[in-house]
Amino acid sequence: MTALTAFRFDNSYARELDGFYVPWEGAAAPAPRIVRLNTGLAQELGLDPDALATEDGAAILAGAKAPDGATPLAQAYAGHQFGGFSPQLGDGRALLLGEVLDRNGQRRDIHLKGSGRTPFSRGGDGKAAVGPVLREYLVGEAMHALGVPSTRALGAVLTGEMVMRETMLPGAVLARVASSHLRVGTFEYFAARRETDKLAQLTGYALARHYPDLAHGDTPALSLFRAVRDRQARLIAQWMGLGFVHGVMNTDNMTISGETIDYGPCAFIDTYRAASVFSSIDRQGRYAYRNQPGIGQWNLARLAEALLPLLADDPDDAIALVTPELEAYGPAYEAAYSEVFTAKLGLQGASAQDAALVTDLLAAMEAGGADFTRTFRFLAADLRNGTDLTASLFSDRTALDAWRPRWMARLGDARATADAMDRVNPLYIPRNHLVEEALGAATNDADFAPFEDLLSIVTRPFEAQPGKDRFALPAPEDFGPYTTFCGT
Ligand code: AMP
Ligand code: MG
Repeated sequence: MTALTAFRFDNSYARELDGFYVPWEGAAAPAPRIVRLNTGLAQELGLDPDALATEDGAAILAGAKAPDGATPLAQAYAGHQFGGFSPQLGDGRALLLGEVLDRNGQRRDIHLKGSGRTPFSRGGDGKAAVGPVLREYLVGEAMHALGVPSTRALGAVLTGEMVMRETMLPGAVLARVASSHLRVGTFEYFAARRETDKLAQLTGYALARHYPDLAHGDTPALSLFRAVRDRQARLIAQWMGLGFVHGVMNTDNMTISGETIDYGPCAFIDTYRAASVFSSIDRQGRYAYRNQPGIGQWNLARLAEALLPLLADDPDDAIALVTPELEAYGPAYEAAYSEVFTAKLGLQGASAQDAALVTDLLAAMEAGGADFTRTFRFLAADLRNGTDLTASLFSDRTALDAWRPRWMARLGDARATADAMDRVNPLYIPRNHLVEEALGAATNDADFAPFEDLLSIVTRPFEAQPGKDRFALPAPEDFGPYTTFCGT
């Protein structure tokens, strides 16, 4: 098997959704070189990693060569960006190479990001720089290891050319795998054009692909809406449980599958502040940590609007049908959030006091400037060892001291609780200063060792790795406030 024959494509999007994309080809790459290949994922996809790790493999992953059976295309979509509607976004620097059925029979998109201009590029160059490509690789793989539905990284390739950003930077392409690239914005695109037939076709396709059990209901669009709502409620609750801030929750970055997508100016909170914002372009704090659940619902309202023409002939009837379903997001999110945080605190069964326990701990963490990730591991360690180390994370321990006995009174066996907590509370996350260090070495010195090191740690986030203590520590004082820049 060679790289060119390695893929057994079955391209349903190209085949079934004519008019939803533009067939397109990747740009030439002067000297494609693989800097990271995800061999485990390649195997899961039925691909031979050795075949991919060749010159042809590098050219394929860079988008410069299309393998046999590929139908490369740029997908059309729209989206609300920071609240304003953009009727035409689309893949401006990406290509869907095709779909494969993985070892479990699941359909997975193979998608290239940074592979050159397309008809949707607008003013952009269609390229990506190596730093943002590696960030998406690292954070996506970490999220997967943390148990959060996410797009995956199959490989990162240097193209051999420089791209112009604030400075000239090495160009790269991310080969990304997703259960699909259908977005809320895909629906908005056809709704805005009043192409109701296409909207219905898209709904049928999305249901068949992601929610096949719901494909035969009376009102498919309503079934789809409910399913996306519940997946997104669950997903965002998981982000909250990890202190993850997506950074650009535009509707074009919200999937129908419920996977996290498009890791641009994302970051994990270290010192806990509910208002944390990291993205340089998010000046109003629209996508702050604490706003994410509300934005989830706001985005779902845009999906509901897009689906209205499919729900009933009379728009008022359609609105009456979908409004309670949209409102049901609140309880769905609260239930998911409660599940996530009670697990983080090792609480078994439900008790009326649990919501207050969670809120009060978070308030104590914020008042005491505690590190989000470490707090939960330290609480478990204290429980296991009978120590009192958690307080060392707090500048003021008063609120923690008042809280802890309430929590302890609610627990079962200490050791079992601590072990259960350590299975859901990571020791290692992609801490901002470590990500910057790894991306900086790759960008400035073509040194990929720090990236490899960090990747190997954050993809085993729950187990202590000997000699790797510094990866669990917060940023040094001189790192300063963290800002991320949009990954374009
Ligand atoms: P993002 O903020 O990365 O989710 O991208 C938003 C939109 O801008 C999408 O339509 C992208 O395809 C497009 N885009 C982002 N960066 C570029 C670029 N360098 N060249 C062309 N299009 C881009
Ligand atoms: Mg995007």
